[in-house]
Amino acid sequence: MKVDIIGSAREAAARAAALKVDLYSDTNSKPTKAMRMAMADAECGNEQALEDPTTNALQERVAELLGKEAAVFLPSGTMCNEIAYRVWCRQGDEILMDETGHGLLFETGGPAALSGLMINQIKGKNGIFSAEQLAAAIRPNGRHQPRSRLVNVENTANMGGGCVWPLKTIQEVCDVAHGRDLKTHMDGARLMNAVVASGIAASAFAETFDSVWIDFSKGLGCPIGGVLAGDADFIDEAFRVKHQFGGAMRQSGIVAAAGLYALDNHVARLAEDHDNARRLHAGLGQIPGIKLQNEVCETNLVFFEILPDSGLDAPEVHRLLMDRGIRIGAQSKTRMRAVVHLDVDRAGIDLALSAISEILR
Ligand SMILES: *Cc1c(COP(=O)(O)O)cnc(C)c1O
Repeated sequence: MKVDIIGSAREAAARAAALKVDLYSDTNSKPTKAMRMAMADAECGNEQALEDPTTNALQERVAELLGKEAAVFLPSGTMCNEIAYRVWCRQGDEILMDETGHGLLFETGGPAALSGLMINQIKGKNGIFSAEQLAAAIRPNGRHQPRSRLVNVENTANMGGGCVWPLKTIQEVCDVAHGRDLKTHMDGARLMNAVVASGIAASAFAETFDSVWIDFSKGLGCPIGGVLAGDADFIDEAFRVKHQFGGAMRQSGIVAAAGLYALDNHVARLAEDHDNARRLHAGLGQIPGIKLQNEVCETNLVFFEILPDSGLDAPEVHRLLMDRGIRIGAQSKTRMRAVVHLDVDRAGIDLALSAISEILR
């Protein structure tokens, strides 16, 4: 089938522009006026030659935040994962991750396509697995098995419902991994949500990981970018692979400035998103025909099922909400995900709740 990309793109943009409340994803948060001003004033140079002062400043700032020696600014979180996988592993190796991991489900098979890797899936609870589960999943050392090489932890766990990994579980999991000569990687797309929700420092979450990154284009509200951190040798290699993957940039200070602005201005406010998500979670819990995935809403994600006795399925609820200018993603026939971010306020949450209860009435 031939896809009309240009036509689809026009339609998609018009559809998005018409929305009143967009709970599809925190990636849909838009750069604020003040962020754009900071971007306009950014000092710039050639990033690929390490000459962009604003990019360098962001890298230093994130390395410090995460308690690592060095960091590299990348165009996306996906590239942070894929570069870390490439640096730590060789073809035929395997990464251990939860069965709901982003690197497994949402990166177009990148680990296999880009680095020849396999993924050994662990059945965690809410995207969080235990040290015992990890120990049982690591392959024995032998000529015939794929080599278990890297453990991937997602904090917060997206498909788990935005759950925060307990620090103790992190430490136990990393102990098991290191005890078996594996490397550890944290996908911290929403690490700052975990930090704000738990009061635990980012560096404490990151301490036992060999590599870790945070995303700037999610709750932090920047247009693009992620920063991957680790020790100096790892980051040196990561810069090499960045170039190989076509991720080296030029005057990237213009976007790195948004990251610096976000670290100053958009971290503490994530608490508002969490409040609004809890309000949504509580409201949805009152609507017949809806079953919440998680008993407690820990951060900014709310997953729920549309029950069959409602007479509707998730794609239908999605469509009926779109007619009212509200977007919540349908992830399957039954499951929906709402994501709260800086462009959704309390009034938006209430509007979404009244629309859903109207539809399901
Ligand atoms: C969004 C996301 C990514 C990818 O980040 P992009 O910046 O969108 O490429 C990776 N992991 C998790 C858990 C995510 O939610």
